[in-house]
Amino acid sequence: MKREHQENGPVCKHCEGISGSILYGKYGYYLKCSACAGNTSIRVECDQAGHKARVRKDGRTFYRECEACASSSVYFVNPE
Ligand SMILES: [Zn+2]
Ligand SMILES: [Zn+2]
Repeated sequence: MKREHQENGPVCKHCEGISGSILYGKYGYYLKCSACAGNTSIRVECDQAGHKARVRKDGRTFYRECEACASSSVYFVNPE
């Protein structure tokens, strides 16, 4: 079932948990869920249809950025 409203941050596809850490792996960034230890690959989308957003990491903070509309917003902050 497709979510009508995308949460700001990543959601675990296994348990719908939203806590954990974003890690970088072979296939790009993914959420390592702290509740079930499952991995969920991360896909970010711009609010504008047809735009391709990407994730930018700066320390523990991850941003969702879109070049097409020059937007940048905080997506997730890893716990220490
Ligand atoms: Zn989980
Ligand atoms: Zn955009």
